[in-house]
Amino acid sequence: MQPDKCDLIIKGSYILTQNEERELIEDGAVAVSGNYISAIGKQVDIAKEWIADETIDCGKSVILPGLINSHTHVPMTLMRGVADDLPLLEWLHNYMFPIESGLTKDLVELGARLGCAEMVASGTTAIFDGYMHEDVVGKAVDETGMKAVLGEGFFKFPSPFFKKAQDAWDAIEALHEQFAGHERIKTAVTPHAVFTTDPDQLAESMGLAERLGLLWQIHAAESVPETKLTLDTFGKRPIQILKEYGLLRERTRLHHCVDVTDEEISWIKESGAMIAHNPQSNLKLGSGICPLTKFVEAGITAGLGTDGAASNNNLDMLDEMRTAAMLQKGFLQDPEAMPAQAVLDMATLSGAEFLGFEDIGSLKAGMKADIIALDMDKMHLKPVYNPLSHVIYSAGGQDICLTVCDGEVIFRDGHFLTVDVETISREAEKAVEWALQRLENR
Ligand SMILES: [Zn+2]
Repeated sequence: MQPDKCDLIIKGSYILTQNEERELIEDGAVAVSGNYISAIGKQVDIAKEWIADETIDCGKSVILPGLINSHTHVPMTLMRGVADDLPLLEWLHNYMFPIESGLTKDLVELGARLGCAEMVASGTTAIFDGYMHEDVVGKAVDETGMKAVLGEGFFKFPSPFFKKAQDAWDAIEALHEQFAGHERIKTAVTPHAVFTTDPDQLAESMGLAERLGLLWQIHAAESVPETKLTLDTFGKRPIQILKEYGLLRERTRLHHCVDVTDEEISWIKESGAMIAHNPQSNLKLGSGICPLTKFVEAGITAGLGTDGAASNNNLDMLDEMRTAAMLQKGFLQDPEAMPAQAVLDMATLSGAEFLGFEDIGSLKAGMKADIIALDMDKMHLKPVYNPLSHVIYSAGGQDICLTVCDGEVIFRDGHFLTVDVETISREAEKAVEWALQRLENR
Protein backbone atom coordinates (compact mmCIF):
# COMPACT_ATOMS: atom_id res chain seq x y z
CA MET A 1 0.00 0.00 0.00
CA GLN A 2 1.29 3.46 -0.91
CA PRO A 3 1.74 5.81 2.07
CA ASP A 4 -0.56 8.82 2.23
CA LYS A 5 0.87 12.31 1.99
CA CYS A 6 0.72 14.72 4.92
CA ASP A 7 2.29 18.09 5.66
CA LEU A 8 4.12 17.41 8.88
CA ILE A 9 5.19 14.52 11.09
CA ILE A 10 6.26 15.21 14.68
CA LYS A 11 8.20 12.50 16.50
CA GLY A 12 9.08 12.14 20.18
CA SER A 13 9.93 9.51 22.79
CA TYR A 14 6.53 9.80 24.50
CA ILE A 15 3.10 11.10 23.54
CA LEU A 16 0.56 11.95 26.23
CA THR A 17 -2.49 11.74 23.98
CA GLN A 18 -5.13 12.89 26.49
CA ASN A 19 -7.57 10.65 24.60
CA GLU A 20 -10.44 8.84 26.40
CA GLU A 21 -8.06 6.15 27.71
CA ARG A 22 -5.35 8.73 28.52
CA GLU A 23 -3.10 6.58 26.37
CA LEU A 24 0.68 7.00 26.55
CA ILE A 25 2.48 6.15 23.29
CA GLU A 26 6.20 5.39 23.50
CA ASP A 27 8.33 6.29 20.46
CA GLY A 28 5.32 8.03 19.01
CA ALA A 29 4.55 10.24 16.03
CA VAL A 30 1.76 12.57 14.98
CA ALA A 31 0.91 13.14 11.32
CA VAL A 32 -0.58 16.55 10.49
CA SER A 33 -2.47 17.51 7.32
CA GLY A 34 -3.41 21.17 7.05
CA ASN A 35 -4.66 22.20 10.48
CA TYR A 36 -5.80 18.70 11.51
CA ILE A 37 -4.17 15.63 13.03
CA SER A 38 -4.48 12.91 10.40
CA ALA A 39 -2.96 10.07 12.41
CA ILE A 40 -1.19 9.30 15.66
CA GLY A 41 0.67 6.15 16.71
CA LYS A 42 4.03 4.43 16.97
CA GLN A 43 6.77 5.99 14.82
CA VAL A 44 7.26 2.72 12.93
CA ASP A 45 3.57 2.55 12.01
CA ILE A 46 3.24 6.23 11.05
CA ALA A 47 6.37 5.88 8.87
CA LYS A 48 4.72 3.04 6.95
CA GLU A 49 1.47 4.91 6.39
CA TRP A 50 2.50 8.54 5.92
CA ILE A 51 5.01 10.60 3.94
CA ALA A 52 5.45 14.18 5.09
CA ASP A 53 6.79 17.33 3.47
CA GLU A 54 8.51 18.08 6.78
CA THR A 55 9.46 15.88 9.74
CA ILE A 56 10.36 17.30 13.14
CA ASP A 57 12.11 14.79 15.37
CA CYS A 58 11.98 16.15 18.91
CA GLY A 59 14.26 13.39 20.19
CA LYS A 60 14.04 12.71 23.93
CA SER A 61 10.78 14.51 24.48
CA VAL A 62 7.17 14.37 25.57
CA ILE A 63 4.57 15.42 23.01
CA LEU A 64 1.24 16.60 24.38
CA PRO A 65 -1.74 18.77 23.46
CA GLY A 66 -1.15 22.54 23.48
CA LEU A 67 -1.94 23.92 26.94
CA ILE A 68 -5.08 26.00 27.45
CA ASN A 69 -5.02 29.02 29.76
CA SER A 70 -8.62 29.52 30.93
CA HIS A 71 -8.15 32.91 32.55
CA THR A 72 -5.77 35.68 31.69
CA HIS A 73 -5.42 39.35 30.84
CA VAL A 74 -2.58 39.16 28.33
CA PRO A 75 -1.74 42.90 28.05
CA MET A 76 -1.05 43.01 31.82
CA THR A 77 2.43 41.68 31.05
CA LEU A 78 3.32 45.40 30.92
CA MET A 79 2.49 45.63 34.65
CA ARG A 80 4.51 42.56 35.65
CA GLY A 81 6.26 43.34 38.93
CA VAL A 82 5.08 46.96 39.23
CA ALA A 83 3.27 46.27 42.53
CA ASP A 84 3.69 43.10 44.58
CA ASP A 85 2.81 41.98 48.10
CA LEU A 86 -0.53 43.82 48.29
CA PRO A 87 -4.13 42.71 48.97
CA LEU A 88 -6.45 42.37 45.94
CA LEU A 89 -8.56 45.49 46.46
CA GLU A 90 -5.60 47.76 47.29
CA TRP A 91 -3.60 46.31 44.39
CA LEU A 92 -6.52 46.90 42.01
CA HIS A 93 -7.63 50.37 43.11
CA ASN A 94 -4.24 51.95 43.98
CA TYR A 95 -2.06 50.39 41.31
CA MET A 96 -3.76 48.56 38.44
CA PHE A 97 -6.66 50.95 37.81
CA PRO A 98 -4.50 54.16 37.93
CA ILE A 99 -2.02 52.64 35.47
CA GLU A 100 -4.74 51.23 33.25
CA SER A 101 -6.58 54.56 33.10
CA GLY A 102 -3.65 55.83 31.01
CA LEU A 103 -3.43 52.89 28.65
CA THR A 104 -3.47 53.52 24.93
CA LYS A 105 -4.39 51.10 22.20
CA ASP A 106 -0.70 50.83 21.22
CA LEU A 107 0.33 49.87 24.76
CA VAL A 108 -2.43 47.24 24.97
CA GLU A 109 -1.20 45.77 21.71
CA LEU A 110 2.41 45.78 22.90
CA GLY A 111 1.48 44.02 26.16
CA ALA A 112 -0.57 41.47 24.20
CA ARG A 113 2.34 40.76 21.84
CA LEU A 114 4.68 40.27 24.76
CA GLY A 115 2.19 37.96 26.50
CA CYS A 116 1.51 35.90 23.37
CA ALA A 117 5.25 35.41 22.79
CA GLU A 118 5.74 34.33 26.40
CA MET A 119 2.85 31.88 26.11
CA VAL A 120 3.80 30.16 22.87
CA ALA A 121 7.36 29.76 24.19
CA SER A 122 5.97 28.01 27.28
CA GLY A 123 3.54 25.71 25.49
CA THR A 124 0.21 27.56 25.61
CA THR A 125 -1.77 27.53 22.37
CA ALA A 126 -5.21 28.81 23.49
CA ILE A 127 -6.42 31.38 26.02
CA PHE A 128 -9.59 32.87 27.49
CA ASP A 129 -8.73 36.57 27.77
CA GLY A 130 -10.46 39.60 29.21
CA TYR A 131 -9.21 43.16 28.97
CA MET A 132 -9.71 46.49 27.25
CA HIS A 133 -9.19 47.02 23.53
CA GLU A 134 -9.48 43.33 22.79
CA ASP A 135 -9.56 44.21 19.09
CA VAL A 136 -5.78 44.69 19.24
CA VAL A 137 -5.33 41.74 21.61
CA GLY A 138 -7.05 39.74 18.86
CA LYS A 139 -4.61 41.17 16.33
CA ALA A 140 -1.65 39.99 18.46
CA VAL A 141 -3.23 36.54 19.02
CA ASP A 142 -3.98 36.20 15.32
CA GLU A 143 -0.50 37.21 14.17
CA THR A 144 1.17 34.96 16.76
CA GLY A 145 -0.94 32.08 15.43
CA MET A 146 -2.67 31.18 18.71
CA LYS A 147 -6.34 30.58 19.60
CA ALA A 148 -8.42 32.71 21.95
CA VAL A 149 -11.75 33.69 23.35
CA LEU A 150 -11.58 37.46 23.78
CA GLY A 151 -13.76 39.60 26.02
CA GLU A 152 -13.99 43.39 26.12
CA GLY A 153 -14.17 44.16 29.84
CA PHE A 154 -16.46 46.78 31.36
CA PHE A 155 -17.23 48.32 34.77
CA LYS A 156 -19.91 50.54 36.29
CA PHE A 157 -17.40 53.40 36.55
CA PRO A 158 -15.77 55.02 33.51
CA SER A 159 -12.83 53.12 32.04
CA PRO A 160 -10.28 54.76 29.69
CA PHE A 161 -12.37 53.48 26.81
CA PHE A 162 -15.99 53.62 28.05
CA LYS A 163 -17.81 56.47 29.76
CA LYS A 164 -20.49 54.01 30.89
CA ALA A 165 -21.24 50.31 30.50
CA GLN A 166 -23.79 50.94 27.77
CA ASP A 167 -20.98 52.27 25.58
CA ALA A 168 -19.40 48.83 25.92
CA TRP A 169 -22.31 47.09 24.18
CA ASP A 170 -21.35 48.60 20.82
CA ALA A 171 -17.71 47.64 21.33
CA ILE A 172 -18.71 44.06 22.23
CA GLU A 173 -20.82 43.78 19.08
CA ALA A 174 -18.03 45.29 16.97
CA LEU A 175 -15.52 42.82 18.41
CA HIS A 176 -17.95 39.99 17.73
CA GLU A 177 -18.31 41.12 14.11
CA GLN A 178 -14.55 41.63 13.69
CA PHE A 179 -13.87 37.97 14.49
CA ALA A 180 -17.09 36.39 13.19
CA GLY A 181 -16.16 33.29 11.21
CA HIS A 182 -12.52 33.41 12.37
CA GLU A 183 -11.18 29.86 12.71
CA ARG A 184 -9.06 30.54 15.80
CA ILE A 185 -10.67 33.48 17.59
CA LYS A 186 -14.05 33.83 19.32
CA THR A 187 -15.42 36.52 21.59
CA ALA A 188 -17.24 36.64 24.95
CA VAL A 189 -19.20 39.16 27.01
CA THR A 190 -17.00 40.24 29.93
CA PRO A 191 -18.27 42.21 32.94
CA HIS A 192 -15.27 42.66 35.28
CA ALA A 193 -16.81 41.48 38.58
CA VAL A 194 -19.99 41.72 40.68
CA PHE A 195 -18.49 44.46 42.88
CA THR A 196 -17.30 46.61 39.95
CA THR A 197 -20.59 46.48 38.00
CA ASP A 198 -24.22 46.55 39.09
CA PRO A 199 -26.75 43.71 38.84
CA ASP A 200 -28.96 45.38 36.20
CA GLN A 201 -25.92 45.98 34.03
CA LEU A 202 -24.96 42.33 34.47
CA ALA A 203 -28.45 41.17 33.47
CA GLU A 204 -28.39 43.42 30.41
CA SER A 205 -24.98 42.09 29.37
CA MET A 206 -26.26 38.51 29.71
CA GLY A 207 -29.09 39.45 27.33
CA LEU A 208 -26.44 40.56 24.85
CA ALA A 209 -24.54 37.27 25.29
CA GLU A 210 -27.76 35.32 24.66
CA ARG A 211 -28.59 37.38 21.58
CA LEU A 212 -25.11 36.99 20.07
CA GLY A 213 -24.71 33.38 21.24
CA LEU A 214 -21.53 34.16 23.24
CA LEU A 215 -19.96 32.92 26.46
CA TRP A 216 -20.31 35.26 29.47
CA GLN A 217 -17.31 35.49 31.81
CA ILE A 218 -16.85 37.26 35.15
CA HIS A 219 -14.47 37.34 38.14
CA ALA A 220 -16.56 35.88 40.97
CA ALA A 221 -16.01 35.21 44.68
CA GLU A 222 -12.29 35.87 44.40
CA SER A 223 -11.71 36.77 48.06
CA VAL A 224 -13.39 37.31 51.46
CA PRO A 225 -13.01 41.14 51.22
CA GLU A 226 -14.89 40.98 47.88
CA THR A 227 -17.72 39.08 49.57
CA LYS A 228 -17.80 41.69 52.36
CA LEU A 229 -18.01 44.44 49.75
CA THR A 230 -20.97 42.88 47.92
CA LEU A 231 -22.68 42.15 51.27
CA ASP A 232 -22.24 45.82 52.25
CA THR A 233 -23.39 47.12 48.85
CA PHE A 234 -26.11 44.66 47.83
CA GLY A 235 -26.78 42.67 51.03
CA LYS A 236 -25.78 39.48 49.23
CA ARG A 237 -22.77 37.31 48.44
CA PRO A 238 -21.35 37.41 44.87
CA ILE A 239 -22.57 33.97 43.72
CA GLN A 240 -25.94 34.64 45.38
CA ILE A 241 -26.33 37.82 43.31
CA LEU A 242 -25.46 35.93 40.12
CA LYS A 243 -28.03 33.25 40.95
CA GLU A 244 -30.80 35.68 41.83
CA TYR A 245 -30.35 37.64 38.62
CA GLY A 246 -30.43 34.46 36.54
CA LEU A 247 -26.77 34.80 35.58
CA LEU A 248 -25.69 31.26 36.41
CA ARG A 249 -26.20 29.56 33.06
CA GLU A 250 -24.45 27.10 30.78
CA ARG A 251 -22.72 29.97 28.98
CA THR A 252 -21.38 31.40 32.29
CA ARG A 253 -17.66 31.18 33.03
CA LEU A 254 -16.67 32.05 36.61
CA HIS A 255 -13.07 33.00 37.40
CA HIS A 256 -11.63 32.13 40.85
CA CYS A 257 -14.54 30.96 43.08
CA VAL A 258 -12.36 31.05 46.20
CA ASP A 259 -14.88 32.24 48.80
CA VAL A 260 -17.84 29.94 48.06
CA THR A 261 -20.25 27.92 50.20
CA ASP A 262 -21.28 24.32 49.52
CA GLU A 263 -24.74 25.60 48.56
CA GLU A 264 -23.22 28.00 46.03
CA ILE A 265 -21.20 25.14 44.51
CA SER A 266 -24.46 23.18 44.11
CA TRP A 267 -26.08 26.17 42.33
CA ILE A 268 -23.11 26.35 39.94
CA LYS A 269 -23.40 22.62 39.30
CA GLU A 270 -27.16 22.82 38.57
CA SER A 271 -26.66 25.72 36.17
CA GLY A 272 -24.03 24.02 33.99
CA ALA A 273 -21.67 26.99 34.47
CA MET A 274 -17.91 26.31 34.57
CA ILE A 275 -15.08 27.70 36.70
CA ALA A 276 -11.46 28.65 36.11
CA HIS A 277 -8.97 27.93 38.89
CA ASN A 278 -6.08 30.41 39.28
CA PRO A 279 -3.96 29.11 42.16
CA GLN A 280 -0.87 31.32 41.81
CA SER A 281 -2.81 34.56 41.48
CA ASN A 282 -4.98 33.61 44.48
CA LEU A 283 -1.89 32.84 46.54
CA LYS A 284 0.05 35.94 45.50
CA LEU A 285 -2.84 38.30 46.22
CA GLY A 286 -3.54 36.49 49.50
CA SER A 287 -7.07 35.86 48.24
CA GLY A 288 -7.30 32.38 49.73
CA ILE A 289 -7.55 28.88 48.33
CA CYS A 290 -10.27 27.67 45.99
CA PRO A 291 -11.88 24.44 47.27
CA LEU A 292 -11.12 22.95 43.86
CA THR A 293 -11.72 19.30 44.74
CA LYS A 294 -15.31 20.13 45.75
CA PHE A 295 -15.96 21.52 42.27
CA VAL A 296 -14.29 18.56 40.59
CA GLU A 297 -16.17 16.04 42.77
CA ALA A 298 -19.43 17.83 41.98
CA GLY A 299 -18.71 17.27 38.28
CA ILE A 300 -18.23 20.97 37.48
CA THR A 301 -15.81 21.60 34.61
CA ALA A 302 -12.79 23.47 35.98
CA GLY A 303 -10.21 25.01 33.66
CA LEU A 304 -6.84 26.28 34.83
CA GLY A 305 -5.59 29.84 34.39
CA THR A 306 -2.66 32.05 35.25
CA ASP A 307 -4.70 35.26 35.55
CA GLY A 308 -2.75 38.35 34.42
CA ALA A 309 1.04 38.56 34.65
CA ALA A 310 0.73 41.34 37.26
CA SER A 311 -0.64 38.90 39.86
CA ASN A 312 1.25 35.72 39.06
CA ASN A 313 3.86 36.94 37.75
CA ASN A 314 4.22 34.77 34.66
CA LEU A 315 1.96 33.11 32.10
CA ASP A 316 3.61 29.69 32.42
CA MET A 317 0.98 26.94 32.46
CA LEU A 318 3.47 24.23 33.41
CA ASP A 319 4.32 26.23 36.51
CA GLU A 320 0.60 26.71 37.16
CA MET A 321 -0.15 22.99 36.84
CA ARG A 322 2.53 22.21 39.42
CA THR A 323 1.03 24.74 41.84
CA ALA A 324 -2.50 23.45 41.25
CA ALA A 325 -1.41 19.92 42.13
CA MET A 326 0.64 20.93 45.17
CA LEU A 327 -1.80 23.45 46.62
CA GLN A 328 -4.77 21.14 47.10
CA LYS A 329 -2.55 18.46 48.65
CA GLY A 330 -1.26 20.89 51.27
CA PHE A 331 -4.62 22.59 51.78
CA LEU A 332 -6.46 19.31 52.37
CA GLN A 333 -3.48 17.51 53.98
CA ASP A 334 -4.12 14.81 51.41
CA PRO A 335 -1.35 13.79 48.97
CA GLU A 336 -3.93 12.02 46.82
CA ALA A 337 -5.82 15.26 46.09
CA MET A 338 -5.53 16.56 42.51
CA PRO A 339 -3.25 13.87 41.05
CA ALA A 340 -1.05 14.68 38.04
CA GLN A 341 -3.52 13.29 35.50
CA ALA A 342 -6.41 15.37 36.89
CA VAL A 343 -4.27 18.53 36.65
CA LEU A 344 -3.21 17.84 33.06
CA ASP A 345 -6.89 17.24 32.24
CA MET A 346 -7.70 20.73 33.58
CA ALA A 347 -5.09 22.37 31.34
CA THR A 348 -6.17 20.47 28.23
CA LEU A 349 -9.59 18.76 28.05
CA SER A 350 -11.39 20.96 30.59
CA GLY A 351 -9.76 24.05 29.12
CA ALA A 352 -11.17 23.15 25.70
CA GLU A 353 -14.67 22.85 27.21
CA PHE A 354 -14.19 26.09 29.12
CA LEU A 355 -13.26 27.97 25.93
CA GLY A 356 -15.97 26.24 23.90
CA PHE A 357 -13.53 24.76 21.36
CA GLU A 358 -14.66 21.20 20.60
CA ASP A 359 -11.69 20.13 18.50
CA ILE A 360 -8.74 20.80 20.81
CA GLY A 361 -7.50 19.42 24.15
CA SER A 362 -6.42 15.93 23.02
CA LEU A 363 -4.27 14.38 20.32
CA LYS A 364 -6.46 12.17 18.12
CA ALA A 365 -7.04 11.84 14.40
CA GLY A 366 -9.59 14.47 13.40
CA MET A 367 -8.69 16.93 16.16
CA LYS A 368 -6.99 20.24 15.38
CA ALA A 369 -3.20 20.09 15.37
CA ASP A 370 -2.45 22.07 18.57
CA ILE A 371 0.65 20.19 19.68
CA ILE A 372 3.58 20.95 21.96
CA ALA A 373 6.77 19.09 22.80
CA LEU A 374 8.78 19.24 25.97
CA ASP A 375 12.53 18.60 25.76
CA MET A 376 13.36 15.79 28.19
CA ASP A 377 17.08 15.90 27.53
CA LYS A 378 17.73 18.00 30.63
CA MET A 379 19.28 17.24 33.99
CA HIS A 380 16.14 18.09 35.98
CA LEU A 381 14.10 15.65 33.83
CA LYS A 382 16.23 12.57 34.30
CA PRO A 383 15.69 9.68 34.78
CA VAL A 384 12.19 9.02 33.41
CA TYR A 385 9.85 6.58 35.15
CA ASN A 386 6.67 8.34 34.17
CA PRO A 387 6.62 11.24 31.68
CA LEU A 388 3.34 12.59 33.11
CA SER A 389 5.03 12.98 36.50
CA HIS A 390 7.79 15.12 34.92
CA VAL A 391 5.30 17.28 33.02
CA ILE A 392 3.43 18.18 36.22
CA TYR A 393 6.08 18.04 38.95
CA SER A 394 9.51 18.64 37.39
CA ALA A 395 9.25 20.61 34.15
CA GLY A 396 8.70 24.31 33.49
CA GLY A 397 7.71 26.44 30.53
CA GLN A 398 11.37 26.90 29.61
CA ASP A 399 11.53 23.19 28.69
CA ILE A 400 9.15 23.59 25.76
CA CYS A 401 10.99 22.97 22.47
CA LEU A 402 8.09 22.99 19.98
CA THR A 403 4.73 24.72 19.73
CA VAL A 404 2.36 24.00 16.87
CA CYS A 405 -1.04 25.67 16.70
CA ASP A 406 -3.65 24.84 14.09
CA GLY A 407 -1.04 22.91 12.13
CA GLU A 408 1.41 25.81 12.00
CA VAL A 409 4.83 25.63 13.70
CA ILE A 410 5.02 28.86 15.70
CA PHE A 411 7.89 28.18 18.12
CA ARG A 412 10.81 25.78 17.76
CA ASP A 413 14.04 25.32 19.72
CA GLY A 414 13.98 28.83 21.17
CA HIS A 415 13.05 30.52 17.90
CA PHE A 416 9.80 32.36 17.27
CA LEU A 417 8.49 31.86 13.77
CA THR A 418 5.65 34.40 13.79
CA VAL A 419 6.80 37.03 16.25
CA ASP A 420 9.56 39.68 16.27
CA VAL A 421 10.61 39.24 19.90
CA GLU A 422 13.54 41.65 19.74
CA THR A 423 11.30 44.59 18.89
CA ILE A 424 8.70 43.52 21.45
CA SER A 425 11.31 43.23 24.21
CA ARG A 426 12.81 46.63 23.40
CA GLU A 427 9.42 48.35 23.39
CA ALA A 428 8.29 46.59 26.58
CA GLU A 429 11.35 47.94 28.45
CA LYS A 430 10.28 51.45 27.50
CA ALA A 431 6.83 50.95 29.08
CA VAL A 432 8.38 50.96 32.57
CA GLU A 433 8.86 54.72 32.57
CA TRP A 434 5.28 55.27 31.42
CA ALA A 435 3.79 53.04 34.15
CA LEU A 436 5.85 54.67 36.93
CA GLN A 437 4.76 58.10 35.68
CA ARG A 438 1.11 57.00 35.96
CA LEU A 439 1.65 55.96 39.58
CA GLU A 440 3.37 59.27 40.40
CA ASN A 441 0.41 61.21 39.06
CA ARG A 442 -2.34 59.10 40.66
ZN1 LIG B 1 -8.47 38.05 36.41
